[in-house]
Amino acid sequence: MKLILHRFFISFLLVMIVSSTLLISPTLANADTGYFRWPADGTITSDYGYRDYDNKFHHGLDIAKTGTVPVKAAYSGIVTRSTVSSGSYGTYITIKHIINKTKYETLYAHLRSKSVSVGDFVEIGDTIGYMGNTGNSTGQHLHFEVHQPYWNASRSYSLNPESYLGSRVGVLDGTEFNPDNGSYGYVQIDTSPEYGVNYYDAPNGKFLGRLPGQNIYGVYAERDGYYNLGGGKWVKESSVIFKRFRAYVNYDYRYGVNVYDAPNGNYVRKLSGNDVFNVYTYSDGYYGLGADAWVKSDNLIIIKPQFN
Ligand SMILES: [Zn+2]
Repeated sequence: MKLILHRFFISFLLVMIVSSTLLISPTLANADTGYFRWPADGTITSDYGYRDYDNKFHHGLDIAKTGTVPVKAAYSGIVTRSTVSSGSYGTYITIKHIINKTKYETLYAHLRSKSVSVGDFVEIGDTIGYMGNTGNSTGQHLHFEVHQPYWNASRSYSLNPESYLGSRVGVLDGTEFNPDNGSYGYVQIDTSPEYGVNYYDAPNGKFLGRLPGQNIYGVYAERDGYYNLGGGKWVKESSVIFKRFRAYVNYDYRYGVNVYDAPNGNYVRKLSGNDVFNVYTYSDGYYGLGADAWVKSDNLIIIKPQFN
C-alpha cells in the first residue's frame, strides 16, 4: 500500500511538473513582445535593473524629454490608480491590461498632470497625462514600469519594459486596416537598410526595383508566395516579416461582445473584453476574426502591428 501510494505520488508530481511547464510556457520568452507601445517620446536616461551609481534596483525605464510631452497608454486597459504619491512616484497612473489572457499592469510616474480617473477604459496610445518632474525626480522624465500580473509595493513582479515594447520607429503612417483598399497587415523588409529586397510587377513577374531594408509597407493581397504592397509592387513572402492587423473588444473585459457566424448572421457566443484577435476580413459592418467568427466593427478597436 505504501509503495503504491508512493508511486502514485511520484507520477502525480511528474504530471504536475509537465502540466505546469505546459501552462507556463506561453508566457515565457516575452510572448507579448511588441504589443505595448512606447508611452512617450524621448531618450532613455536610465534602464531597468541594478544601477551602479546608487546601488539600487531600478524597477522601470526612464524616458526624458523637455517641453510639453504627452504620456500615452502603452496598451488598452482600465485605469487602476490615478493619484499623487506621498513617496517617490509623485503624480502617477497605473493601468491594468489583459493580453492573450495574461494580466499586466503598467505604471507612469513623475507626471506633470494626469487626465484619466480610476475605472476609465483607455485605448492604446490615448494620452493619459503629461511628462513632469513630480515626486523624487531630478529633471523632467517619465518613469515607466511593466508588471505581470500586477504592481505590488515590493515591485516583485516587475519586468524589463524594453523587452515588452514594440518598435520605436513606429509603423507606416497612412496605412490603416481598410475595408475599401483591402489592407490587412504590414510587412517589414527583413534585411539591413542598405541591402533591401527586389520587387516585381506580379507574383513571379518582372523585376521593377529594390525596396530598402527595415521599411514597412501595407499588405493588400497574397498570391503564389508573394505579397502585394499596393501600387503594383509584389515582394516574395520569404523576404519580409508579415504582421496582421489585430483587434480588441471595445468594452470593459467584464462585458464582452456578441460573436455571429456571418455578417448579420446567427449569434454564436460571447467574446470577452480586452482579448486580442487577428482580423482577416471585413464585410457589411462586421470584422471576420477567422473560423466563421464575426463581430460588429463598432465593437472592436483595430491595432496596428508593431515591429522591433
Ligand atoms: Zn525611474
